[in-house]
Amino acid sequence: MDARHLGPDVDVLIAGAGPAGCTAAIVCATAGLRTVLVERLAGPAARPGEALHPGAETLLARLLPGGFADAVGARHPGITVRWGTEPRFEAFGQDESGPWRGFQVDRRRLDALLLDRAREAGAQVRLGCRVGQPVVEGGTVTGVRLGGTTPLRTRTVIDATGRARWLSRALGMTAPLRSPRLLIRYGYATGSCSGRDAAPEIAADCTGWTWTARVSRNRYQWMRLDFAPDQARRRGGPPPEFADLVPESPARSADVSWRLCPRIAGPGWFVAGDAGVLLDPASSHGVLRALLSGWTAASLAVGVANRTLEEDDATGMYRRWLREGAERDMAQLSARYAQLGAYGFG
Ligand SMILES: Cc1cc2nc3c(=O)[nH]c(=O)nc-3n(C[C@H](O)[C@H](O)[C@H](O)COP(=O)(O)OP(=O)(O)OC[C@H]3O[C@@H](n4cnc5c(N)ncnc54)[C@H](O)[C@@H]3O)c2cc1C
Repeated sequence: MDARHLGPDVDVLIAGAGPAGCTAAIVCATAGLRTVLVERLAGPAARPGEALHPGAETLLARLLPGGFADAVGARHPGITVRWGTEPRFEAFGQDESGPWRGFQVDRRRLDALLLDRAREAGAQVRLGCRVGQPVVEGGTVTGVRLGGTTPLRTRTVIDATGRARWLSRALGMTAPLRSPRLLIRYGYATGSCSGRDAAPEIAADCTGWTWTARVSRNRYQWMRLDFAPDQARRRGGPPPEFADLVPESPARSADVSWRLCPRIAGPGWFVAGDAGVLLDPASSHGVLRALLSGWTAASLAVGVANRTLEEDDATGMYRRWLREGAERDMAQLSARYAQLGAYGFG
């Protein structure tokens, strides 16, 4: 028998308290669903992902009615782009109220604000708790083991575990590579770099791209992605324009190869954020996609719980929506890399 007929312990269990998971928890708890948000870390951590597209501001203003100004660092109306040519300034756009402005956020602070809001909305938050094996009955995810032997029974699971891709892995789905292997190196430095204060810059050629940005007062970030795999393994430090700055710590690296989860949603489950779609940061939409997909998956889960939506319709809609957006972003970025003559694209 489907365990959900015995009555779930909760309506929705969300794994991962990054932007996607917290957004999903806020939306579900606000709609009155019994919501549990499970995060393996003891609390929000410093992580990259600071440059936000102006579109994220509208979403964050609705998610965080108390405001999020103390998480915001530098603001900028666009980006300086050197895409194999002379530099040009690309503005985000404007409307009757003026130019749209992107912004840099302190990710630890932003994630903490979202987590607090999820708690206030009524979500039960379990920190320092790693989700274990999902319970699958008749092809439907009906619960999750959280350490003890008795699983927590739930109507819906939302996997927002980022690059860990917990649920896809547990269900035996591999998210195939959609790009050559891409490793990124990044770091932070303090001091003054007046050339980077007005706007971030991305400088790209056939070997790769370099991103430099001011994230807050006297604090700067750099990222370097090399297209050729032998170059990507090379260890390197800050770019020449940051030569006079003081590096905060040794450079770090991350695998940002593109991946698209093959199913994204099914009976009793949705995948949101990086766990579903992963692109390198040149797509500039990682956090925005996490907020949007967490929100959308949660809204559909609310519809299913309230019986205003059939589950098959909800999961089908979600799969189409997320896949189409991801395919479009991948095609656009791929074309831009091919235009540079980048290794492995075009
Ligand atoms: C170097 C770099 C630079 C980037 N720069 C930008 C940028 O400038 N702008 C931008 O928009 N995006 C950027 N991104 C992408 C952005 O960081 C991600 O798209 C975004 O954080 C995705 O949010 P998420 O909620 O899906 O996942 P995450 O933020 O990764 O959150 C996932 C959470 O799940 C938790 N978790 C994992 N496994 C488990 C488990 N088994 N049980 C419980 N919890 C678990 C993790 O601890 C984590 O808290 C960058 C990425 C990198 C690597």
